Amino acid sequence: MTLSTQGVFLPEKIYGIIGQPLGHSLSPLIHNWGFQQLGLSSVYFRWPVHPRQLPEFIAALRTLPISGVSVTIPHKCSIMAYLDEYSENALRAGAVNTLYWRGGALWGDNTDVQGFLKPLQKKLASPQKAMILGAGGAARAVLWGLIGSGVNSVVVTARNSNKAAALAKEFGADWMDWDQRGQWSGDVLINATPLGMAGCDEQANPWPSNVPPRVSVVYDLVYNPLETPFLRLGKAAGLQTIAGLEMFISQAVGQFSLWTGMELDLQELRSLVCSALRNTP
Ligand code: NAP
Repeated sequence: MTLSTQGVFLPEKIYGIIGQPLGHSLSPLIHNWGFQQLGLSSVYFRWPVHPRQLPEFIAALRTLPISGVSVTIPHKCSIMAYLDEYSENALRAGAVNTLYWRGGALWGDNTDVQGFLKPLQKKLASPQKAMILGAGGAARAVLWGLIGSGVNSVVVTARNSNKAAALAKEFGADWMDWDQRGQWSGDVLINATPLGMAGCDEQANPWPSNVPPRVSVVYDLVYNPLETPFLRLGKAAGLQTIAGLEMFISQAVGQFSLWTGMELDLQELRSLVCSALRNTP
């Protein structure tokens, strides 16, 4: 129930996102929109937190009536040391993107895992061979999502071979030299680098642009812009494509449901985020 005195809105529950930088985050838009749509008396803030402020943030979280937190770069792995309990997806991925309370304990979950898998499963029922471009935080959720759902062969490649090899070893996957990646073929090729992202390397492609990928599905985790050079390459080769927007909205639906027990409408959320991205300078 919304407490309101003379038109003043007094939310009952507080949520927010921590990370740095947070300027571009669409999570406040999504969750505040969701609260409004479903008539929940809740509000979601943007909380920039530097890595050295993480212990103080956790102390505040354990003191103040904060009901849930989204976690993004650079805290997804380091925050795990401060939590009481973890979901299997968080433990297996070695990364957390959602905090919530259950029975007085502070839990960490990783909704990126299902957020990544759901759009892929709509395109391919049982992929067997996958390659991940990039070996950072997002690659961890992708790796566990693929391996946990029974994909037989997962190959990691990154510009830093040591990182690719170490990450692959941790998950029992294989790795390939970055310069050799154009020779690989399989079912699904995933971009987990920022190449193609607005304001960063928007014209860049993580795949050699003169080599059509030999796969069924090209999946870009980058969601801004909606169409990247990587997705355009896939479309030009006649392949199925999945834009990062699909994972982004799907992981947000997972967070919202953990916090409220309620489901956001995927189609309406897609329209909201698409129009926000189109209006982003
Ligand atoms: P991250 O931890 O910084 O890792 C990025 C990876 O890309 C690293 O392997 C990095 O290599 C590599 N890389 C960076 N710049 C590169 C370049 N110029 N050439 C080749 N490789 C490069 O980032 P992240 O959290 O994994 O995120 C990766 C991307 O996924 C971002 O664009 C992010 O927005 C997107 N993402 C999307 C969703 C979604 O819901 N759609 C969720 C999470 C992330 P080094 O280690 O050598 O720097």
